Amino acid sequence: MKKQIHFFLLHFFKIHIILFLFPICFFFNGCSNIGQETQQPVHSTINQYQSIQGQWIVTDDGYYTLNNHYVYYSSNGEEWYPLCSNIECNHNDEHCNSFVGLSTKIFLYNNQIYYQPDSSDTFHLYCMNLDGSNHRKVKEISFGTIDLSQGYGYSWSINGNYLLVEVSRYEENAKYNGIYYCSLNDTTSKATCVVEGNTTAIPYMAKIVHDSIVMFSKKEGGETILLYDIKSGKQVESTSFVTGFEGGGFAIKNDILYLFSSDIGFYQMDIHTGELTIEKEAQNRVELGVVFYDDTYAYLCNSTNTYVDSLNLVENSMRGLRIYDYDGNLLDTISYDSITGHPTFAFSTEDKVFFTNGDDITNVFPSYYIEKKYIGTNNLILHNINQ
Ligand SMILES: [Zn+2]
Repeated sequence: MKKQIHFFLLHFFKIHIILFLFPICFFFNGCSNIGQETQQPVHSTINQYQSIQGQWIVTDDGYYTLNNHYVYYSSNGEEWYPLCSNIECNHNDEHCNSFVGLSTKIFLYNNQIYYQPDSSDTFHLYCMNLDGSNHRKVKEISFGTIDLSQGYGYSWSINGNYLLVEVSRYEENAKYNGIYYCSLNDTTSKATCVVEGNTTAIPYMAKIVHDSIVMFSKKEGGETILLYDIKSGKQVESTSFVTGFEGGGFAIKNDILYLFSSDIGFYQMDIHTGELTIEKEAQNRVELGVVFYDDTYAYLCNSTNTYVDSLNLVENSMRGLRIYDYDGNLLDTISYDSITGHPTFAFSTEDKVFFTNGDDITNVFPSYYIEKKYIGTNNLILHNINQ
């Protein structure tokens, strides 16, 4: 686990990440089910756009999150309980149904919760039923280059029926990344390598959206966006460098990739030609931080904790939640002036958006929510959740 955290740190903790993303680094968001299953999907597609996933699962019947190695469930996003129906269990040891070992992520596919319970040179993928029962191993994949004692590590995510694994060597002067994927419906232990990189061009922060693997490629002079189409095997690279993307999310809709870079603006990229443009420039000292997308809106929390406030990067009067359409047009805001704590995006559902409190990183559960039907009406309110 420690190595994975190091891996994570190296990838994302540039200074601005520390400033804006730190409070939510360990609370990253959900996932989705875009698989073509005949079985009725229980999962909405609404949280598939986050760049780092695995903290939240959103289903039509409730929500799941990971709290200190145990999976918690909530039917409404407000009260959370260990995912364990054993009345004699104290939910505090490895025998509890909600226990997922060292896994730092949970994902849903085909009514199963997937997790990675250990850290070893071989990647072990487990799953369990939605009620916490029937834990079992489903995959064991060896990536060849992995040797944790030699400084390798991996990051992974699931979207639809795809498992995506990023293999990384993170030692100084020996950087290497390889991006792999495989189908969860495939019972073999094989994974396909999409792209590899070394010190001259390093692909990283890979994520599957629909049938595309979206990656960033660090190379001399800047970073580009790479898109790999799983169905066709075709790869497209952005025609220009993307500046300042610090995490958060991106979305693909109608063959356009949408992306926000802190203090730069709202980018759009044609996923067929790679043409990359800034659709709307960011407002200085206001539009800083990371943006998270759901199927309709983009959410920016530009003040995520008291430390960020003390740096005075964001104009004091402009601290708050800002909600945009995909083109970067501002639809609504909520000022943090009269709010206790620092709301930070957690996950989005059909009708609500939940936020954690960036001042309280020991509490993974949401502390606030808004109702989407009030966005743009001048009646949008941030509700407190009393836990
Ligand atoms: Zn239990």
